[in-house]
Amino acid sequence: MADFKSHITGSTIVGIAYGYWGVAEQSMSIESGMLAGGLCAVSGMLPDLDSDSGIPLRETSMFVAAIAPMLMIDRFRDLGLSHESMALAAMIVYIGIRFVGVEFFKRFTVHRGMWHSIPAAASAGLIAYLVMPCPTESVRVYKSLAVVLGFIVHLTMDEIWSIDVAGGFRLKKSFGTALKFFGNSALANTMVWAMFGGLLYFSMGDHEVVDRIRDRTRLERTYLAQPEPRPWR
Ligand SMILES: [Zn+2]
Repeated sequence: MADFKSHITGSTIVGIAYGYWGVAEQSMSIESGMLAGGLCAVSGMLPDLDSDSGIPLRETSMFVAAIAPMLMIDRFRDLGLSHESMALAAMIVYIGIRFVGVEFFKRFTVHRGMWHSIPAAASAGLIAYLVMPCPTESVRVYKSLAVVLGFIVHLTMDEIWSIDVAGGFRLKKSFGTALKFFGNSALANTMVWAMFGGLLYFSMGDHEVVDRIRDRTRLERTYLAQPEPRPWR
């Protein structure tokens, strides 16, 4: 199994390449490219949230809890929150991830279970899509795919590290337990695929919801910006 440092190194290298590709080939802004690269690097830690040994879980959850509220700023703004409410919402997100999220992973996941899987990688991308509304859809998809990519890099490295080269190219028992669509537990399979389906459903409807909220907020702002309400003619 690749250790924490190898995973970070791997996903960071791929993240830099992805950021460069976005800026050079997909006409993304430098900021979007750098952010996508960073998201890919951090996402390389996400699959090991299911590891019961403390370090990956602690480090990863701290990192995710710190950056998630910042990435959600556009979402908060779309909801029309004031700066104070944004700070409060950020705190709630932080606490939610640090305590509720971590507790969930400790209790309900097993290492190399269904959280190490392709539908889990896709779900992580959809969560990123849902928390980060962007001015354009292409930027939003580009950043969300960075998360999926980092996740997949981790899973691929886990598989590569399952090949025992020193022992004459032997496959270890862990081979095939990372880049998979289904695991051994029917319950875990159902949960992860249901999560993926639910997230996909929400993501597909999200565009309309965000547009509607934006329109409403804009209307309210225009109305409030008027010096005094004019009588209707
Ligand atoms: Zn792993």
